[in-house]
Amino acid sequence: MATDNLPPLPSDADLRRLVHFSASDGRIWLAGHRMLLLHLGGLANLRKELIQTIGFEQTRRVLKRAGYQSGLRDAALARQVRPSASPFDQFAVGPQLHMLEGAVQVTPDICEFDLEKGAYHGVFRWDHSWEVEAHLSAFGPQAEPVCWMLIGYASGFTTAFFGQQILYKEVQCAGCGHEHCVIEGRPVKDWPDAAQLQEDYEADSLLVRMEDLQADLDSLRDSLQPCDDLGELIGRSKAFEKAIGLLRKAAATQVTVLLTGETGVGKERFARTLHAMSPRACKPFVAVNCAALPHELIESELFGAEKGAFTGAGAARPGRFERADGGTLFLDELGELPPAAQAKLLRVLQTGEVERLGATAARKVDVRVVAATNVDLQAAVEAGRFRRDLMYRLNVYPIGIPALRERVEDIEPLANHMLQHFMALHSKRVAGITDRALDAMRNYSWPGNVRELENLIERGLIITPAGQMVDVDDLFAFAPVPPQVTVGAGGELKQGPAADLGHLYEEMQKRGLSLDALEDGLLQQAVDRAGGNLSAAARALGLTRPQLSYRLQRLRER
Ligand SMILES: [Zn+2]
Repeated sequence: MATDNLPPLPSDADLRRLVHFSASDGRIWLAGHRMLLLHLGGLANLRKELIQTIGFEQTRRVLKRAGYQSGLRDAALARQVRPSASPFDQFAVGPQLHMLEGAVQVTPDICEFDLEKGAYHGVFRWDHSWEVEAHLSAFGPQAEPVCWMLIGYASGFTTAFFGQQILYKEVQCAGCGHEHCVIEGRPVKDWPDAAQLQEDYEADSLLVRMEDLQADLDSLRDSLQPCDDLGELIGRSKAFEKAIGLLRKAAATQVTVLLTGETGVGKERFARTLHAMSPRACKPFVAVNCAALPHELIESELFGAEKGAFTGAGAARPGRFERADGGTLFLDELGELPPAAQAKLLRVLQTGEVERLGATAARKVDVRVVAATNVDLQAAVEAGRFRRDLMYRLNVYPIGIPALRERVEDIEPLANHMLQHFMALHSKRVAGITDRALDAMRNYSWPGNVRELENLIERGLIITPAGQMVDVDDLFAFAPVPPQVTVGAGGELKQGPAADLGHLYEEMQKRGLSLDALEDGLLQQAVDRAGGNLSAAARALGLTRPQLSYRLQRLRER
């Protein structure tokens, strides 16, 4: 794109259409990103107090990085909004959104780039910068440029747009007495003072220094108290904290623990954490999935076999109980254990001794058993599939692990943690997860729990182009059940499943199901599935909690 024939900026009508005022829930959206309408005076005051508190230098860095983050987010929109436009018109999304967002008036002067060679040179004129206005009224004219957040935005947008680091300098600024501001951007390798420019974008703020100190403190504390580590367990919700509290109390003791919860809630992770927090942490942790082992092998696997005990037992081998000696044995999907193995397990728990298949003497073992099940053991006992005496033996200290939909506030930290993990695993970087995607995740019912979230995040990372943000469509691209939140044409969120419900309606009419009966059943099932938690049930139904309470009340009165 040559300097002399720079085309005029295209119409920004397409960008204006992305703005959606969702008055009913107090949110404003720019496509997938939640926005704020702020008073310049308020933001200017925040900027001023920041300068007075942490100084010019630190404030410049903080604001540059804040602007950079905004630029990154807007760059994710550029190619989405104008998929078939010329590269210049796609790029123009940045300057045009910057204007639409009210930050500054942008006039391109030079905009030359070669996508293949990774070359870029841009010069833009800025008028009416909000930062100049804020800065001049607080501090008067300056020797150094003051459009920090704006420069950060331009750098973030251009970097994300071209997929290589491109940084801008303010070569003149209205904050220093010039008529208007002028910025110039180049790939970082083309700036002679690149190191100095990059420094502002590195995480070296006071906060980071404090985080470093905190990390040092944590590691010191760990060395004093090596067994209190939550490891991969992440959460801050009440339901999660409650389970962790029970886990911590059990860790110091030898009590047999029974972990219950739906499929995919992370029972093995909880078991590993319990082990790591216990005095047995330095001894083995052995996990057995009772459902994955063939029935005919399960006894020899658990209890071991002497040479020749059965066909194929060529040499004597210890079972998992013996391997876990001194440590923890985790029995997952315990409900699947066949009757003969149940009897043997009960005996081991009672005597603390295992007898290998074909052996004449028993061996003493010191093992802490942690069992897990996603079936209702009580019901399995009633149905005659599980021994009552064994259930009592194991059910000394039950810990219920909450379903993901019961710990909605943990979804964001979990998702971000998983994203970091998978970015390292797949050597691919994306800019994060959009607010809209996070919102959809919070409204989804997660039948597969944490494991399902993990799968979604991994696939979302793979589908999303590098440098962009993972959005709702990337995330739920393969979902077996569409999310309960769909995205309208204006970018707004809509409640309600997108699936074709025709066959369901047909079935209802065939069975002569009345609307009242249907509502009763639906409400009751949602409350049951949420384990009596009305807030979770309401979320699953797309209702508010008061709405659900009202309907339940009406149901009782009928
Ligand atoms: Zn300026």
